[in-house]
Amino acid sequence: MSDFPALKPNGYRDTWCGQVLGDRVGSEVRVAGWVHRRRDHGGLVFIDLRDRTGIVQLVFNPDEAGGAFELGHDLRAEHVLSATGTVVQRSSETVNADLPTGEVELKVSAAELLADAETPPFQIEGFAGEAGEDARLRHRYLDLRREPMREALELRHRVTAAMREFLDGEGFLDIETPVLTRSTPEGARDFLVPSRLQHGSFYALPQSPQLFKQLLMVAGLERYYQVARCFRDEATRADRQAEFTQLDVEMSFVDVDDLIEVNERLLAHVFERVGGPRVQLPMERMPYDEAMDRFGTDRPDLRFGLELVDLGEALRETEFKVFRSVLEGGGAVRGLNAGRREMPRSELDGLISRAQELGAKGLVWAFREGEGWRSPTAKFLSGEELRVLNDRLGAEEGDLLLLVADERPVTDAVLGQMRIDLAERFDLIPEGEDRLVWIVDWPLMEWNAGERRWDALHHPFTAPAGEFDPDDPGAARALAYDVVWNGQELGGGSIRINHADTQQAVFAALGIDAEQAEARFGFLLEALRFGAPPHGGIAYGVDRIVQRLCGAETIRDVIAFPKTASGFDLLTGAPAPVDEMQLKELGVSLHERKLAGH
Ligand code: ASP
Repeated sequence: MSDFPALKPNGYRDTWCGQVLGDRVGSEVRVAGWVHRRRDHGGLVFIDLRDRTGIVQLVFNPDEAGGAFELGHDLRAEHVLSATGTVVQRSSETVNADLPTGEVELKVSAAELLADAETPPFQIEGFAGEAGEDARLRHRYLDLRREPMREALELRHRVTAAMREFLDGEGFLDIETPVLTRSTPEGARDFLVPSRLQHGSFYALPQSPQLFKQLLMVAGLERYYQVARCFRDEATRADRQAEFTQLDVEMSFVDVDDLIEVNERLLAHVFERVGGPRVQLPMERMPYDEAMDRFGTDRPDLRFGLELVDLGEALRETEFKVFRSVLEGGGAVRGLNAGRREMPRSELDGLISRAQELGAKGLVWAFREGEGWRSPTAKFLSGEELRVLNDRLGAEEGDLLLLVADERPVTDAVLGQMRIDLAERFDLIPEGEDRLVWIVDWPLMEWNAGERRWDALHHPFTAPAGEFDPDDPGAARALAYDVVWNGQELGGGSIRINHADTQQAVFAALGIDAEQAEARFGFLLEALRFGAPPHGGIAYGVDRIVQRLCGAETIRDVIAFPKTASGFDLLTGAPAPVDEMQLKELGVSLHERKLAGH
């Protein structure tokens, strides 16, 4: 890191390890850091000393280092050291081309041990991932000494710094909102904090700053952002964190186009600053329905084909009972053409199991052969049906066709995922290509068949497009948008409702009656009656963006102090039991008390 700001000399050091370069030959420097590696060689002791900027080689020579030689001899990995010496050119055969400082070394004349270190539970230098993640999380401060971890945190910093830089330039204000607050419905469970002063009452940790950012718009702040911590007590699904970071943004007097315009410039700026994908402006947009029709998901990966095709029309009159009963029951038959593939029977069986695992009752596979199919299902379909199916699927000789018959959400989920599986299996994703797309024109609500009610697709504050008809909530479209990068959602937001009566009508359609609405969101409804400007915003998942940019395997690798998948902080031991006394003060009593360690 030669662009690191020069050090102000003090008693420990005057030069960063990474800045001991060829131009310093002949000068005396003082460096400080950790012993990365130690080698004894021909009576000399070689130490690789590491600080945040890099590594420099120190040489302890018994003839020159005087008393420091003894110290050099006793040094062990991760001891903390300050050393003074002369920068010398290495001989050509000892130059280390892998190290930016590899042309020189420091001939130590004096050294001071600043702290010794116990033997680390896993190697810092040359770490090959053999230490289990539990050990890494338990000693996170050691894990973070490793280069890839430090680089991930540096990248994370550069991402948020670029976000701030752009938004500052556009007149956005960085405003903090409370962490101890009331529930904000983003669809997850709240973390609760009991109140000591008001027994029986609880704060909720925010699932997002949603309502506060809207209130800031009512307050006339016009442009707000925050790199905000959000808390969602979700079922421990793989690779999620209960607390995570969003870039949260809100603006006033804007419509969907205004929001998208400023946000795509934000993304272009951030990616340009950190070496992410090149963003072509304006970015592509795709209506939600089209994404579902063609890709079976609202997060389509546009880098490859294998698009989904609706086959219901072609099969309307079919005698094949499986298809017919699904179609008559209001379901769909959808399929995709996986291209010309060879697959042994065992792998085809594997596809069927995969489809079932994804929720389908079954999967029809077929290879186009002449005008018809080679498939166990071929005999149930007429020659004309096969011809039309081949035609609809654009099938050519030898192409593998996959069909699923089910309720529409099932066909989409199954084929949408199989499309991705197949792209990976057959290496269909072009190297180095990036596709960013805005998904727009969403439904406002979706029917929750289990609970027999309408749920907001984004959140209940999203504005409907045009008049909202409470008698037909399923028909309402939302002024909402998500931005998707290669099949992953980077962020999403919406224009908000800015009239209390519309907000009440939407609450009612979602099954939140007037009394409940007043109790939970009275403050918002009231604010909306005091002159709320048209406003809207977005939030981006910062952890996920950084993870994708650095290609980290888990989201935990881009968070300094993450929790395990089951929500434990192995470093501090949180969550942990508390004293009886503390509970008493909070007016909380436990039904059962687990003893620590049991
Ligand atoms: N609050 C939303 C979320 O957390 C984002 C937004 O609508 O701005 O997903």
